[in-house]
Amino acid sequence: MIDNFKHKGMRQQLVLAVKSKGITNESVLNAIGKIPRHLFMDSSFLDHAYQDKAFPIAADQTISQPYTVAFQTELLQVKKNDKILEIGTGSGYQTAVLCELGAKVYSIERQQELFKKTSKFLPKLGYRTKKLIFGDGYKGLLTEAPFDSIIVTAGAPFVPNALLAQLRLGGRLVIPVGDNVQIMTLYIRRGEKEFEKTEFGEFRFVPLLEDKN
Ligand code: SAH
Repeated sequence: MIDNFKHKGMRQQLVLAVKSKGITNESVLNAIGKIPRHLFMDSSFLDHAYQDKAFPIAADQTISQPYTVAFQTELLQVKKNDKILEIGTGSGYQTAVLCELGAKVYSIERQQELFKKTSKFLPKLGYRTKKLIFGDGYKGLLTEAPFDSIIVTAGAPFVPNALLAQLRLGGRLVIPVGDNVQIMTLYIRRGEKEFEKTEFGEFRFVPLLEDKN
């Protein structure tokens, strides 16, 4: 697992690209500047790793575009020691960003191949999550609720009630909602049954799939 000056230089270019698209949170930009994204992809794809693009990983899934990762992370307003639930572990890149920000991360993945691969890979890079779970993200993680924030990294056809219910008061859910195109949506829990909803622009994700079983 090599991370050399060439990679670091490419990464700084990526930080500039993400910044020029409007990301301002310094901690988020630092995380992108630090995490060796090329190691989250097949080694033959080095040239693609530091472009601001999504890219195929195993099991017909994608590693999200760095700008999208930064945009979603910014909306979470992560504070050190926040308890965060991620739906869609995938390559683990978004997970690593959350770890860099000092969050306690729980992440759910429904593809066993990716779950296994990423479970082995993240600790090798020094990223210690609280728990990686093989399961169905639609259900959230009731045993660990409530969460300071929840991030969904796949396109959700609707907003699962379980996820809203697992936010603490003041907690934030960032979820791309829609079928072919998704609207990035932020929910802030303001009361037992009150949620403040804000919509951001259009994004494209692989779909959040229903339970396989
Ligand atoms: N955060 C990832 C993005 C991966 S793409 C990264 O940075 O690489 C979205 C991921 O969501 C895929 O790995 C897909 O398998 C997973 N996914 C889809 N439906 C799911 C569900 N119901 N529960 C958990 N994960 C799901």
